[in-house]
Amino acid sequence: MFRVQRLKFKTPSWYISLSLFVIFLFIFSLFIKKSFSNRRPSQWKVKVEWVVDGDTFIIQGHQVVRLKGIDAPELGHKKGERSQYFAKQALKRLIHLIKKRYVIIKRYGLTKDRYGRYLAYVYLPDGRFVNLLMIKEGYAFYFPHHDLERKMARRFLDAQRMAMDQRRGFWARILSMDAANKRYIGNRKELRFHTLLCPLGRKIYLKHRVYFSSLYEAFYKGYAPCRVCTPWPKE
Ligand SMILES: [Zn+2]
Repeated sequence: MFRVQRLKFKTPSWYISLSLFVIFLFIFSLFIKKSFSNRRPSQWKVKVEWVVDGDTFIIQGHQVVRLKGIDAPELGHKKGERSQYFAKQALKRLIHLIKKRYVIIKRYGLTKDRYGRYLAYVYLPDGRFVNLLMIKEGYAFYFPHHDLERKMARRFLDAQRMAMDQRRGFWARILSMDAANKRYIGNRKELRFHTLLCPLGRKIYLKHRVYFSSLYEAFYKGYAPCRVCTPWPKE
């Protein structure tokens, strides 16, 4: 301020105007920069360090990310434990898509589960939607949850129905095994289904019970298998 005051007496007015304008620009640019840095980004570009299985990976900083709204067959993690059918293929597919590459994690729908893992919608830089892709190709199935955005649930279930009808990925075997023609009991509230012998299935309130005449029907209606009695075969 002192400098400006002094200049006022010695310099022409256009010089003062110009100086004030430059100062104004400087302050304005600081303000703009601050307001932009405060704005929360709608997405992040992050590098994938490690792929754990067909629906989970680790990014820089050791943060675990799980693909939201989908479930891939489980790998046998403990020694001697067999993997579920198609778990290794799903892992390989996800490795091929994202390992050591950059992916885009959307703020939309981003949550954390009780294990501290991010549940996220993940995209490739070319725009492909990884969660959806895994369902479309029959490497993962739709996993309903109350956290899931309705719009996404719809997209995932539509993609799954198409994958089932085209017998893509694991669906060819899953829909033709003996267990495919058995009856199942579902829980309308949780959108999980059980074998008729599962103790958890028997505990479902009568008003929440729904019966399916085949695996196709249970999956087609958007129910996911119970982890205890799952009819999913081992490798
Ligand atoms: Zn069950």
